[in-house]
Amino acid sequence: MKKRILVLGAGFGGLELTTLLSESLGDSIETILIDRNDAFVFGYSKLDVMFGHATPDAVRIPYETVVKPGVRFVRDTVTAIDPEARRVTTDGDVFDADVIVIALGADYDLGATPGLADAGYEFYSVAGAERLRDVLPTFTSGRAVVGICAAPYKCPPAPSETVLLLHDYLSTRGVRDNCEITLVTPLGSPVPPSPDTSRALIAAFAERNIAFVPNRRVTSLNAARRVVVLDDGHELPFDLFLGVPKHRAPKVVEAAGLTENDWVPVNPRTLETRFPGVYALGDIANTGVPKAGVFAEAAARALASSLIASLRGSGQPELNAGTGSCYVEFGGGRVGRVDVDFFSGPSPRGTFEAPSARLRDEKELFGSSRRARWFGAPVAA
Ligand SMILES: Cc1cc2nc3c(=O)[nH]c(=O)nc-3n(C[C@H](O)[C@H](O)[C@H](O)COP(=O)(O)OP(=O)(O)OC[C@H]3O[C@@H](n4cnc5c(N)ncnc54)[C@H](O)[C@@H]3O)c2cc1C
Repeated sequence: MKKRILVLGAGFGGLELTTLLSESLGDSIETILIDRNDAFVFGYSKLDVMFGHATPDAVRIPYETVVKPGVRFVRDTVTAIDPEARRVTTDGDVFDADVIVIALGADYDLGATPGLADAGYEFYSVAGAERLRDVLPTFTSGRAVVGICAAPYKCPPAPSETVLLLHDYLSTRGVRDNCEITLVTPLGSPVPPSPDTSRALIAAFAERNIAFVPNRRVTSLNAARRVVVLDDGHELPFDLFLGVPKHRAPKVVEAAGLTENDWVPVNPRTLETRFPGVYALGDIANTGVPKAGVFAEAAARALASSLIASLRGSGQPELNAGTGSCYVEFGGGRVGRVDVDFFSGPSPRGTFEAPSARLRDEKELFGSSRRARWFGAPVAA
């Protein structure tokens, strides 16, 4: 009997893990990759959709093109996980497994912030970005507030990128002088592990007359009075609110008894949960690293090496390095990069590479190389 590995979630983590398992083990094992969606979308593509730089169709990468030795993609919704029996139930089937890897990402809890769903717009889902693509052209004057409702949230630099891209968008349309832009974040700086990145972003905000409110979280929106309420009771008037909703592990994982304080506790270096043979990685796992695709990918690499070593009975498993490089949009077509290392020193350290057109090309390659590895699509020149 072949060993069976069930990978729940075909995002950054699940796609990288199944690719590595296929490359090393081919069809000597059975890997089943389950996702409820029919296509993958890079997180940063949501900003492209929202600002009208790409159509929703152009950023969708259909899962039907995931064809790899030993890997079967199943388009189903996971409805129950029994971590003791290592059994997963979906809306179409029941799967027993030797190993379960939970990579179901983070869900958004709009209800945790009263008024957000009625008076504001979230821009962290594809549907939210699509809605905003139609709303933004109608915004020609007034106060735009980009605000974070709770930490941790995906891709800590994304809200900073959003205000810089909003500045460009309004400038191109000739209405920037009629508008105010404010960013509210619970973090003390835009990218706390990298003071250089934070300084560069704060300077970019100042150059563009973007107000920056650190150490504050959005707790509610008052639709009648058109104000955003912060966690210290202060109020900010708004005409357009773009929000990052509270994140949490999907309910199916909580119902399985796998979560503590909204996330799945794991050994940060081995991705083991407290259930033997059950692992969690990526946004859903509490490892102490930011919720970003590159960190999900690094965790997938470590877990792949340990699963491959254990299935082959040889080889040295790697530990999760907790390192990653994030590209940061500064507007004007320029992209910066921050390389962060969370585990090797006493505290996280980040190094910054200043924005340039060269890094834009590097970001393109980041996307197209993954598209090629995971889906067999051509790499951009
Ligand atoms: C605006 C924005 C910009 C970003 N920019 C970057 C960036 O530049 N660089 C970067 O590294 N990261 C970026 N990110 C973050 C990145 O997208 C996530 O951190 C990353 O996708 C997490 O990978 P994951 O594998 O943990 O989860 P995901 O990629 O979210 O995958 C989880 C998968 O699980 C599936 N799923 C969930 N529940 C179920 C269920 N019950 N049944 C079946 N399937 C289910 C989902 O459909 C999804 O495909 C950005 C995010 C946003 C929102």
